[in-house]
Amino acid sequence: MTHSDTCGRGPASLRADFPILARSVYGHPLVYLDNGATTQKPRCVVDAMTDEYLNVNANVHRGVHYLSQQATDLMEQARERVRRFVRAAKVEEVVFTRGTTESINLVASSYTQAFLREGDEVVLTQMEHHSNIVPWQLMRDRYGIRLRVCPVTDDGRLDLDALAGLLGERTRLVCVTAVSNVLGTVNPVARIARMAHACGAHILVDAAQAAPHLPIDVQAMDCDFLALSGHKVYGPTGIGVLYGREELLEQMPPYMGGGEMIGTVSFEHTTFNRLPYKFEAGTPDYVAATGLARAMDYVEAAGMEAIMEHEHDLTLYALQRLRQVEGMRIFGYGSLPAAPTAAWPETGGAGSVVSFLVGGIHHLDMGTLLDRLGIAVRTGHHCAEPLMRRLGVEGTVRASFALYNTRSEVDTLAAGIERVARMF
Ligand code: PMP
Repeated sequence: MTHSDTCGRGPASLRADFPILARSVYGHPLVYLDNGATTQKPRCVVDAMTDEYLNVNANVHRGVHYLSQQATDLMEQARERVRRFVRAAKVEEVVFTRGTTESINLVASSYTQAFLREGDEVVLTQMEHHSNIVPWQLMRDRYGIRLRVCPVTDDGRLDLDALAGLLGERTRLVCVTAVSNVLGTVNPVARIARMAHACGAHILVDAAQAAPHLPIDVQAMDCDFLALSGHKVYGPTGIGVLYGREELLEQMPPYMGGGEMIGTVSFEHTTFNRLPYKFEAGTPDYVAATGLARAMDYVEAAGMEAIMEHEHDLTLYALQRLRQVEGMRIFGYGSLPAAPTAAWPETGGAGSVVSFLVGGIHHLDMGTLLDRLGIAVRTGHHCAEPLMRRLGVEGTVRASFALYNTRSEVDTLAAGIERVARMF
């Protein structure tokens, strides 16, 4: 698919590119609103991967033979594609991982070993996914670092005044999600980066929920690390990205040892490969890298501006429709969200996710009964138990949107919720 294949098409008309959306579930047309968990794949992504397996496949970086070199070229082209997607200055700063979780674990392990001493502080926030909490707790228990937590306000935003109070001379790193997977809150990460840098700390941005919805520019937001998952941005599972500032990655020890990450090996001494290979031990998922590159082509051809506009419209419409349901309680969105723009790292905002509960109906009952109507939503704590505690609930029902969702699907969701509510 070239740029012209998608250019100028409204996001809703892109549905035909996603065969799974034509499925029915329990006799109802599928309404897929679990995009925060994973997005569906356009045919071009699957085709690119099938083509590589059927016609190119060979292990990368190892062989002198033709296929190996072709597979290596595809993987390095994919790295360049990712570099452009996140607007990194250099391909050396783009490390392939298995996903956001592995990217954050890599930073937690290698950054802590390189830069942190006992008593040094890492600041997290109350709206982090477990994958940006637990790796830091493992480091706390191993190396005696301290964790501080930035609270969330009643309307679901980060309390930046409180954050300012937490930053001090022992702060080394601030770890923050760009977009909350529960509330849809878009955090002003460029402002937070300035606050961190002003006290000599670095910043890690979890962009798992941002990459499918908002333009990413690591240089403009001036972040030191950024993590994302391929499967949430219309790409395959098993591949993710860590962007890291070159001078930091250079000073960090490898995360895993094995093939490909070495210079020379003897039993006495091993030297390490240059960036980014130092952090890519073992055979990488090179076919998934190609799939991710294709997905990024797809997203950019659809147009991030158009995606933002469409998903914002869906979010506003969903808020309007859901607020009409008796007993509806929506989390976050204290006031109607300002449409996120390309300036989101400065302004913040909200969008693409609506978390709710209705009356006393358990989130699991709501999710199960909606499923029977063909509506796929997420229920539970969304891997954000500390945030659930802050909200005073055990779990929520979450509808999360992607470029292919439509207003009519929001209508189906609202009607479904009303139908379920009448059963109780
Ligand atoms: N951070 C956030 C904000 C997420 O929403 C998720 C996925 N739900 C993750 C991290 C973890 O991503 P993955 O499971 O793909 O590693």
